[in-house]
Amino acid sequence: MELSKQNKIKNFFKRYGVMIVAGVFVVAIALTIGLTLPKAQQVSTPNLSFTVPMTDAQITKDFSDQDLQYNPILNRWETHLGIDFASENSAVYSVLDGTILSVTNNSLEGYVVEIEHADGFVSVYSSLSENVLVKEGDTVEGGQQIGEASNTATAEFEEAGLHFCLLKDGLEVDPNLYIDLQNK
Ligand SMILES: [Zn+2]
Repeated sequence: MELSKQNKIKNFFKRYGVMIVAGVFVVAIALTIGLTLPKAQQVSTPNLSFTVPMTDAQITKDFSDQDLQYNPILNRWETHLGIDFASENSAVYSVLDGTILSVTNNSLEGYVVEIEHADGFVSVYSSLSENVLVKEGDTVEGGQQIGEASNTATAEFEEAGLHFCLLKDGLEVDPNLYIDLQNK
């Protein structure tokens, strides 16, 4: 290598060496933070303690607001703004104290119960059987049974299941952020 070239390189590092080291350091810290943050970060809800909508249940389809999931019944890819459960025990429970907003029925979602809770939360339970145990205006406690999972949501279930949604201030949120659903 020519002497002038070596000097240029030396000068370059003399001038920018500190900045390069600092830059690498910042990138390393950012990567570390990015990798160590859990994917679904638990949001703190200091006064609310949610319970599970079904016991001994398996999640058959998880929440996804970005990645598309295949729906074999409708033969299409779609987001899934709720969580599907299946369980030997078909009882469905309110996840929190609240008031029944509505009990409705349609051919795609089956029997649907909406419950209003504190802090702008609404929970929605779809694909219930006709045998709904609550009516509009009733107050319920967390853990109280409201109905049974069924296959009335023909857009989604061939066998009995529950499609569960959680809304916060009118928008669907990932229930995993508020309820420990993965380890039932
Ligand atoms: Zn679903």
